[in-house]
Amino acid sequence: MYNPKSTTATEFISDSEIRSTMEYARENCGNMQLVESVLAKAAQAKGISHREAALLLECNDPTVTERIFKLANEIKHRFYGNRIVMFAPLYLSNYCVNGCVYCPYHAKNKTIHRKKLTQDEIRAEVIALQDMGHKRLALEAGEHPLMNPIEYILESINTIYSIKHKNGAIRRVNVNIAATTVENYRRLRDAGIGTYILFQETYNKDNYEALHPTGPKKDYAWHTEAMDRAMQGGIDDVGIGVLFGLETYRYDFVGLLMHAEHLEATYGVGPHTISVPRLCKADDVDTADFKNAVPDDIFYKIVAITRIAVPYTGMIISTRESAKSRARLLELGVSQISGGSRTSVGGYVNEETPEENSSQFDIADHRSLDEVVGWLLDLGHIPSFCTACYREGRTGDRFMTLLKNGQISNCCLPNALITLKEYIRDYASPATREKAESMIKRLLSDVPNDRVRSRAVEYLSKIDNGERDFRF
Ligand code: SAM
Repeated sequence: MYNPKSTTATEFISDSEIRSTMEYARENCGNMQLVESVLAKAAQAKGISHREAALLLECNDPTVTERIFKLANEIKHRFYGNRIVMFAPLYLSNYCVNGCVYCPYHAKNKTIHRKKLTQDEIRAEVIALQDMGHKRLALEAGEHPLMNPIEYILESINTIYSIKHKNGAIRRVNVNIAATTVENYRRLRDAGIGTYILFQETYNKDNYEALHPTGPKKDYAWHTEAMDRAMQGGIDDVGIGVLFGLETYRYDFVGLLMHAEHLEATYGVGPHTISVPRLCKADDVDTADFKNAVPDDIFYKIVAITRIAVPYTGMIISTRESAKSRARLLELGVSQISGGSRTSVGGYVNEETPEENSSQFDIADHRSLDEVVGWLLDLGHIPSFCTACYREGRTGDRFMTLLKNGQISNCCLPNALITLKEYIRDYASPATREKAESMIKRLLSDVPNDRVRSRAVEYLSKIDNGERDFRF
């Protein structure tokens, strides 16, 4: 029985509701009156349901697709402005007891080089990340109760927050580790994590079980109910996602939106972020074995309709996507991207060698952070290194309220400009610095509140004089 408020996986992600949604979309996608009514609802920027979203995805009319793209862009600007939050992944360990057939960390893979960072190695990685200019990390680790127990993750978080190298600091550590207990989520919250991220991989239970034949991750309910336990453990910023390419995109698109609806209905706050990774080539993983690859044009539509369906949720694109595809996705609602990423364990200090390959997957965007920042400025986006909301306690529904009330221009915009200024003073190339200075000058006048604007001017000049870490 489908029940978005249930905390039982098969009830809030109901297979029969997904299938009947897909059928409804197929049968009604030619009904232009219905499509028009969904577009009109979407234009109010308050979200649409999984059924309505599925209908838009199924509609092949090119003018409708263009309108969806335009609307997604408008909604993105309305709630997020043109700022793009920057982050980098930090791989702690690739030891893993699971058997995920699409992931090179799977326990049976004998060719991948297994590696776990010591606290000293983490320190070196973090200094390298700080020297690039990063302030926000996503911690990644395989699931291994002996090699990567929760105590190791907690100690690593502590180490990361403690490092202050030159003007560098990691101010927000998001965590992408395997599903765990309420108690462990509470410990992660107490360690001061930002978002807890966990990808569902696929919402299709039968397929999920086939793709995860061994290890703790094979338990569909344990994995699917992880965000409920995270919320019960006091983490109110959670990040969901599917790995597109494992299951038909239609099924997982509906499942993803149903998961967001479940969190909103049950906890009063939807996911903080949605990630939309696509399956990549990796060691011991041949993408040709997977028959559900999502072509670019459909992928763009999925991202745009997700933006329309959940207007307040951040959307993340990693370096799995090429620069060209990222440029397009930024226009369709993406609000966070990584830059200068390495997916190998220890990869920020040591360039990976073919003999010691520990990477999770092959990335498509190999540019440095400075190149990505410069490129974003060229495209008219504001690269933001802001971490203020979480540090000011604006998480969960408090963050969503700020966003819904359109307070970004008085809060997020000046924060983005201030953190961009820090970045260019400490890390940018002369070309990037020049572009950023002119953007900062131009956009300051967009801060509506006089008092906030003059305080932002004051902070910018203090940054020029060597002070750091201002925020609204
Ligand atoms: N061990 C944690 C877990 O089980 O969720 C973290 C997993 S991993 C470090 C992060 C994500 O990478 C996975 O959830 C999966 O979606 C993604 N991933 C795994 N293999 C991939 C591949 N071949 N291509 C792209 N993404 C992949």
